[in-house]
Amino acid sequence: MEKIQFKAESKRLLDMMINSIYSNREIFLRELISNASDAIDKIYYKALTDDALTFDKDSYYIKIEPDKENRTLKIIDTGIGMTREELENNLGTIAKSGSLAFKNENEIKDGHDIIGQFGVGFYSAFMVSDEITVITKALGSDEAYKWKSKGADGYTIEPCEKDTVGTEIILKIKENTEDEKYDEYLEEYRLKAIIKKHSDFIRYPIKMEVTQSRLKEGSETEYEEYKEEKTINSMVPIWRKNKNELTDEDYENFYQEKHYGFDKPIKHVHIKADGTIRYNAILFIPEKMPFDYYTKEFEKGLELYSNGVLIMEKCPDLLPDYFSFVKGMVDSEDLSLNISREMLQQDRQLKLIAKNIKNKIKKELENLIKNDREKYETFYESFGRQLKFGVYNNFGQDKDVLKNLLMFYSSKEKKLVTLDEYVSRMAEDQKYIYYATGETNEKIEKLPQTELVAEKGYEILYFTDDVDEFAIKMLMSYKDKEFKSVSSGDLGIDEEKEKQTESVEKENKDLFAYMKDVLSGKVKDVKASKRLKTHPVCLTAGGDVSIEMEKVLNAMPN
Ligand code: ADP
Ligand code: MG
Repeated sequence: MEKIQFKAESKRLLDMMINSIYSNREIFLRELISNASDAIDKIYYKALTDDALTFDKDSYYIKIEPDKENRTLKIIDTGIGMTREELENNLGTIAKSGSLAFKNENEIKDGHDIIGQFGVGFYSAFMVSDEITVITKALGSDEAYKWKSKGADGYTIEPCEKDTVGTEIILKIKENTEDEKYDEYLEEYRLKAIIKKHSDFIRYPIKMEVTQSRLKEGSETEYEEYKEEKTINSMVPIWRKNKNELTDEDYENFYQEKHYGFDKPIKHVHIKADGTIRYNAILFIPEKMPFDYYTKEFEKGLELYSNGVLIMEKCPDLLPDYFSFVKGMVDSEDLSLNISREMLQQDRQLKLIAKNIKNKIKKELENLIKNDREKYETFYESFGRQLKFGVYNNFGQDKDVLKNLLMFYSSKEKKLVTLDEYVSRMAEDQKYIYYATGETNEKIEKLPQTELVAEKGYEILYFTDDVDEFAIKMLMSYKDKEFKSVSSGDLGIDEEKEKQTESVEKENKDLFAYMKDVLSGKVKDVKASKRLKTHPVCLTAGGDVSIEMEKVLNAMPN
């Protein structure tokens, strides 16, 4: 038997392939299953134009067969198979994609179901195997062939026996070494998990014999194990289903299955976008904060699929930081992937999707305020702080996205209110949106600085979170109403009083000068106040920075 050599460049390429393209070994199975799915798809596409061919979906499947004793893993498909020539072209030439060629030749424009395009995925199997054997029989051919290779050395092809059309790939799984373990790729539970993770939405059944247990016949306590062939993947992803076919429970199950969180999400959003960029997404707004949410360990991101195949587990670029609590997934057929299919080649499409998603979440949250206030407040308790950070981060770039989502405790309502609600209740002569800062609502309530504003019947927002005032400063105003701290110098209330205090100040000029002298270094000035009712004295902030804010700034490391 003649041994055909890989060309020199191929050798280097193969080496590079095996060792450096993929960050994660387990994806070899994703690649082989994707190829099997492509091979079945090709029969499907042929049947569309060839009357002699019928495509009966039930007779097409992919099968995974681990064999621990012989250390082999088989991936079997009932797809289109390969002729001798195709074996040489597609498996003998690295970076040649028979699938891409198939799409072009058959002018399949909407062939977005076919996954292959780079012609390298197959070789990823060398990451876990010493030797690969491919036994294949092409559709419409009487001959079957066996292709065999140990990697960079080259490969052999010889005729062989195979009854049915399709392909069988046999991987000889590497022996464990001290540092590297390969046994897991023969373990049923591990294979199942890998299939679930990367290939759950392959449209054909991926079957595998799995160990089940049942009560022994005649016994009520003793169990026995038995093997049964099961379909591992769920095939039709929930996000491709019609929204009206799905119940709230379906979405909740999906949330749990995906381990997005242990809570019950307060809201799900199912997006089916068919515009400039096509994508499906299911997003969740969780109820409870993940325990590590406000720590460095927390990683934001959505799962990213390309055509039902998982590309990235946490794609951070799909979410702005202030919506980092959102869980879920995005599937698009319009993404241009890089060669390892772990990353995107350009982020234009991704940016479009991210922008879309951002606006959608904003709308959903605004609707929640209107339609389910209680749920929104629960949500706000966990994530409100993040929204406030969002207003002030990046120089307020996205403050307009967030301003309607903010809530603060109100002196009048004794509960959280939105800025919109505040403004709509403002008195005719009221110029500003007033706020007071302090540690707790109770403490703020007792502040002498709030007296005059409260006396006027104006509502005051209580800022108890250190980020509150920073966020507000970034907003500057809401619906043309500026924010005003009750401890700022000029409250914009009562001109009459102005004169009164002026005269008090004149009459007591010496006293004030003496007090200022005594308190020198501690206060900037001593003045008659027009805001006090029952308290004899209060501290106010002179400039833009309130006393509370000064505290925060002073506490910051330089
Ligand atoms: P890609 O899938 O990106 O084209 P691969 O390296 O994964 O690249 O596969 C190379 C080519 O080998 C495929 O395009 C296809 O033509 C052929 N091939 C691989 N696996 C199979 C299979 N199971 N059945 C039929 N053809 C296959
Ligand atoms: Mg492939």
